[in-house]
Amino acid sequence: MNLTTRGPGAPVAYVRTSLSCKGITPAMTAPVVFTSSYSDNSNDNGFQWEFHCDRCNTAYRSPFEQNYLSRGRGVLRVLRDLFGDYSKTIHKVSNAADDFSNTWSGGAASATKDKAFTKAVDLVKDDFRLCAGCGSWVCARICWNDHVGQCTRCSPMAAHQLAQAQAEARGSQFRDAANQQDWTQNQDMSVPSRVTCPTCAANTTGGRFCGSCGTALDLRTNCTGCGHQIQAGTAFCSNCGRAQ
Ligand SMILES: [Zn+2]
Ligand SMILES: [Zn+2]
Ligand SMILES: [Zn+2]
Ligand SMILES: [Zn+2]
Repeated sequence: MNLTTRGPGAPVAYVRTSLSCKGITPAMTAPVVFTSSYSDNSNDNGFQWEFHCDRCNTAYRSPFEQNYLSRGRGVLRVLRDLFGDYSKTIHKVSNAADDFSNTWSGGAASATKDKAFTKAVDLVKDDFRLCAGCGSWVCARICWNDHVGQCTRCSPMAAHQLAQAQAEARGSQFRDAANQQDWTQNQDMSVPSRVTCPTCAANTTGGRFCGSCGTALDLRTNCTGCGHQIQAGTAFCSNCGRAQ
């Protein structure tokens, strides 16, 4: 719902009445049962909407419906721009045409758009189902479990659940089998692991030196005085205080 818009004067009967239109009497047009989030792709040449599945957000686009009345307006505008004030008649007519818009702004334009919207809804509504479990409008193709009559979030498809359970079991069996193996044989477990080389930034594969540039990855060294293990680059030994 967040990515979509509703026409400013969208007919209330089409909007989800329980959520967004409390207290508003639905329009007197024939009730349209299909409601969902949708976006308006209408332009000067006609009408088109995209209806979105609440679950996967797949868009179902209604066929583009030409609006010859508004196309005529476009022609009149061009004539007006060409002839300017020379033709008073065209000017008047084209100004009147400017009042017509393929937006829900009221008047005859809105009535035309209402009709086009009802038609678009009729063409697309069979692609959608209302889930009584969660109240979402979902696409019939992907998000509907026809065996149960609920959306696939409320009642996942058995095959999907089976595949998921198998994948989980496989993962846990892999972990069990891996735990049985000794992975430490060729590893000096006392060397702190460093995943990138401090000099060339190459990924390391563990070990004491960078495989790319040879920089020592083991940052431990021994005090030149007492032999205590200290961090390489340290100025004084933390055990005997000798300068390194
Ligand atoms: Zn869907
Ligand atoms: Zn559901
Ligand atoms: Zn390196
Ligand atoms: Zn020392």
